[in-house]
Amino acid sequence: MNVPLVDLKAQYATIRDEIEAAIRGVVEEQQFVLTGKVEQLEESIASYIGTKYAVGVASGTDAILLSLKALGVGPGDEVITTAFSFFATADAIVNAGARPVFVDIDPKTFNLDPALIEPAITKRTKAIVPVHLFGQCADMDPILRLAQKHGLKIIEDTAQSIGAAYTGRPAGSMGDCGCISFFPAKNLGAYGDGGIVITSDPEIAEAVRALRVHGSQTRYHHERIGTNSRLDAIQAAVLLAKLPHLDEWNEKRRQNAAYYDRKLAGLDGIQTPYIAPQNVSVYHVYTIRVRARDKVAEHLDKAGIGCAIHYPVPLPLQKALDYLGYEQGDVPKCEQASKEVVSIPMYPELTQQQMDEVVNAISKAIRGS
Ligand SMILES: *Cc1c(COP(=O)(O)O)cnc(C)c1O
Repeated sequence: MNVPLVDLKAQYATIRDEIEAAIRGVVEEQQFVLTGKVEQLEESIASYIGTKYAVGVASGTDAILLSLKALGVGPGDEVITTAFSFFATADAIVNAGARPVFVDIDPKTFNLDPALIEPAITKRTKAIVPVHLFGQCADMDPILRLAQKHGLKIIEDTAQSIGAAYTGRPAGSMGDCGCISFFPAKNLGAYGDGGIVITSDPEIAEAVRALRVHGSQTRYHHERIGTNSRLDAIQAAVLLAKLPHLDEWNEKRRQNAAYYDRKLAGLDGIQTPYIAPQNVSVYHVYTIRVRARDKVAEHLDKAGIGCAIHYPVPLPLQKALDYLGYEQGDVPKCEQASKEVVSIPMYPELTQQQMDEVVNAISKAIRGS
């Protein structure tokens, strides 16, 4: 039996009628950009997270980029972030004109290690972008304390973690703003690209609102340089139909993770995900550590079990960032993780039979490697 890494069709089958009605509604209206649907989604997301504002944009990447710009981050500034993330975290910082400064991770959670932040702070540091990786929040309290002490802004990369919590506080609500991605495979996925900035700071909300429409607050009057980065009405309608299901889907992911945890516990050489006690994870992915990772991944692939490496190259060692001058050995814990991690099938609709199949394949792969 083949088990895919994610199965968007399985989810669609459970909400087909709601989705089709939502899309048809927009098509009937013939209103596609920054409409009532988008405003309705912004209100619903703000109320779901518990922030005062939410501003829809074209992608999670743009959510980070426009947040940085809204906070005045630009050329000459440094922005501290984790070495272990999807590349968007880094390219948003570079595209804002700033210099990314990477810190190593806590090898247990894969999130940035707060103890390594302070030594990385310089006179030029303007902001920190913690990433809530794989569905689990970074250790925010020490990060928030450092930000306060040094006068730094905090932009939470919440692309993988809508619905997660840290000491009871929702992911994306703790810093100056949070950035959510609606990429189709994320926990709340649109039917195309989309993203949103969440914040309780009216100035940030207003700045992002202007930046997404060419830096304009009044049509054809432009106070700053912005861009075209809007969430469209069809995506907003799809997301509005899906949002009421999100908590239940995240709960299903947690149950699936607990099943994997139990079944994989006995296998030699496998480390299942560690969730810190103050966190509620939404398991965007289920990522294990295996010593013979490449062989195991190859076995799984051959057995028809979807798997992926999140991520094979630490951000500071990506070719595009050569100019920053990082070298092998600069982020040893991240480098080790990038050689050992493999993500296995995780989505709410996974069946027990499918998970048994995955566990069997892993068990065989380990014996064969
Ligand atoms: C997906 C993702 C992004 C970017 O989101 P897009 O909507 O694809 O632009 C940013 N950061 C992280 C950690 C992500 O996983």
